[in-house]
Amino acid sequence: MRGLPALTGLRLVGLVLVVVTAAACGSGRGASTADDRLHVVATTTVLADLVRQVGGDRVTVESLVPKGGEAHTFDPTPSDVRRVVEADLIVRNGLGLDDWLLALIEDAGATAPVVALGEGLPGADYVDDGGQVNPHLWLDVAYGRAYAARIAGELERLDPAHAADIRATAAAYDARLAALDGDIRTRLSAIPEADRTIISFHDAFPYFARAYGLTVDGTVVDAPGQDPSAAQVEALIAEVRAKGIKAILAEAQFSDKLVRAIADEAGATVVSDLYTDSVGDAPVDTYESIMRWDADRLVEILAGT
Ligand SMILES: [Zn+2]
Repeated sequence: MRGLPALTGLRLVGLVLVVVTAAACGSGRGASTADDRLHVVATTTVLADLVRQVGGDRVTVESLVPKGGEAHTFDPTPSDVRRVVEADLIVRNGLGLDDWLLALIEDAGATAPVVALGEGLPGADYVDDGGQVNPHLWLDVAYGRAYAARIAGELERLDPAHAADIRATAAAYDARLAALDGDIRTRLSAIPEADRTIISFHDAFPYFARAYGLTVDGTVVDAPGQDPSAAQVEALIAEVRAKGIKAILAEAQFSDKLVRAIADEAGATVVSDLYTDSVGDAPVDTYESIMRWDADRLVEILAGT
């Protein structure tokens, strides 16, 4: 409570109103930590980081899915009920990534506004995965910027007294993301096109691939969640060899043994350390740093540097 002794009566009233509003929002974070920052709950660590970057010191943020957790199939716990009830704003991706949140909100009777960053995103060109929109838009940094802009709009609306601060923080962050986007595009496009085909066992990469000039050869995975047959494996090995594919992106849901066997046979590299739905530990604990990491790894493997 900076400068309290100097406050006029009028400003003091405003201060009291802010405190009352915070209490009425049910922030319930204990008297010792009560403050007027917005408390935001996001479904994933990636979205939580976007909120943190845009909101700066005007927000506190929690992710429901823990770091490294599986966003698509997350099973909320009783403590998550409390989290959504106490939130001032709930941020999700939507498009099927985190639909479990809807039942959680209903069960909890949470009343905070909910924003689905990926849904109805202005200018988005959605990728259709067999009748379903692929939800992993943020892996194209242009869409990451659009997510951040949307978050800024929500925070400004909920905290109008600090709208100018939020706008300035968001603008500085957006400039960093724009530079990152250009940097990833420049570095990947410097790799000869013939070397830019990858095989992905993960459905996370269509937006990244389209934005940064990779071709995803996904013919191997006809039935998601099911390992390919022996004949399909043979066909895949032949294809990886014929096309000179250098990288196979692995995913936990498929047997790592199978992926490694295919890669060994065909002379490709298995890449199993890319970040998609979650941030990692420092120094790859932000959206910006996971995008940079993924680009570095792909350039290293595809360009053979
Ligand atoms: Zn995913």
